[in-house]
Amino acid sequence: MDPLRFADVLLLGLAPDGGLVVPEHVPELRPADLASLRDRAYPEVALTVAQRFVDDIPEPDLRRLVGAAYAPDAFTHPDVVSIDQVEPDLYLAGLSHGPTLAFKDMALQLVGQLFENELDRRDERLTVVGATSGDTGSSAEHAMIGKRKVDVFMLSPHGRTSPFQAAQMYTLREPNIVNLAVRGVFDDCQDIVKAVNADARFKADYRIGAVNSINWARVMAQIVYYVFAYLRVAPSPGEPVDVAVPTGNFGNVYAGFVARRMGVPIERLIVATNENDVLAEFFATGRYRVRAAADVVPTSSPSMDISKASNFERYVYALHGDDPVATAALFAGLGPDGGFDLAGESGQAVSATGFVAGSSRHADRIATIRRLAKEHGRVVDPHTADGIHVGLEHRRPDVPLICLETAQPVKFAATIREALGRDPEIPPRLADLLDRPQHYEVIDPDPERVKARIAAHYAGTGRP
Ligand SMILES: *Cc1c(COP(=O)(O)O)cnc(C)c1O
Repeated sequence: MDPLRFADVLLLGLAPDGGLVVPEHVPELRPADLASLRDRAYPEVALTVAQRFVDDIPEPDLRRLVGAAYAPDAFTHPDVVSIDQVEPDLYLAGLSHGPTLAFKDMALQLVGQLFENELDRRDERLTVVGATSGDTGSSAEHAMIGKRKVDVFMLSPHGRTSPFQAAQMYTLREPNIVNLAVRGVFDDCQDIVKAVNADARFKADYRIGAVNSINWARVMAQIVYYVFAYLRVAPSPGEPVDVAVPTGNFGNVYAGFVARRMGVPIERLIVATNENDVLAEFFATGRYRVRAAADVVPTSSPSMDISKASNFERYVYALHGDDPVATAALFAGLGPDGGFDLAGESGQAVSATGFVAGSSRHADRIATIRRLAKEHGRVVDPHTADGIHVGLEHRRPDVPLICLETAQPVKFAATIREALGRDPEIPPRLADLLDRPQHYEVIDPDPERVKARIAAHYAGTGRP
């Protein structure tokens, strides 16, 4: 298929053949580029990285969109991403200062701006239909507040999202955001989204788009904080660092891999999974073995409870020398609990990509939360704790280790209470969140009901 422009990829999500979109060439950040970015503010770094991938938005527009995405009303930390040294050679990169207190805001705030810009230019609308068990839904909704060309229908399992995460979604009252609480589990929500997308007629009529983690624009936006954190932590440009990343769908750490390929001296990418250890197993054995949905265990780091890692296909593509045919062949046969084995074929290639991995269990995350609180007075969320636990197992003398902080502890209060015997602090701007009125509609797990609800939204408006 012919190459696409950036804005087409932005609105497309998945490629028409069901594959994932990747750039034709990985652009370079040379040592001189890194040196010139050294003391720059986050939006400046973001602009430089985005310009390497965006071929169809003029520079002044891109600068404005990046500026709006990372403005102080969205991200409360003055540097957007905080960098804190907790021990000699151990740093936390805080990615959770955005509106929903999780790292998904880092990408979705920019995606919201890019959507609005492109839809305005084309004079088109987009209907986002998504499924969420927590973080993605609230982050996507907050990114689309006030975006006149985008409507959001977010499906969440009724009564099964944490009270704080539910409140982050349901307390929104926006004309373009509809919360649908599905009588069922997360997989039911995801199946409905698939069914809605499989109805080609409906999809075209209602201009259904996606904001899930396979959207290339999200990966691009996430590359930025790897560059930024590197520049703030490395003693001088060129010196190596290691980065530990709590991982579910492989979106976050894949962005780190692209940063590494671009030339950022990240020597090792440390993949941390929870009990759902599809990826730790792959990096230990070379076998990628997708789990059946029923074999996914609910854990205390719920945003990493996955059966297969959607973005992993992009990594396998790189492992095969950017060969789309070999990659498609591997993934074509991948059923709901299928798999493949790359131990013989690409074992060498895997180690050359700098990945190491490990998994962290409930007791590990509790112990890590306790230790950081006791020794450093620092409370971290359970996902971040997984990253720190596995990161420290791979710590090397004299190589700075950066652990990515992917959420604030207040989102996962029950686990913090278990670890510390007290509630996490609530940021002032969300102090009354749980008391605000909620707006959501309970709906049966039936794609036809959801389609009817979407159609009703537009009835009589002449749109979309
Ligand atoms: C989504 C999420 C993750 C996992 O990120 P992936 O890109 O899916 O690997 C980790 N931690 C938190 C808090 C999340 O919300």
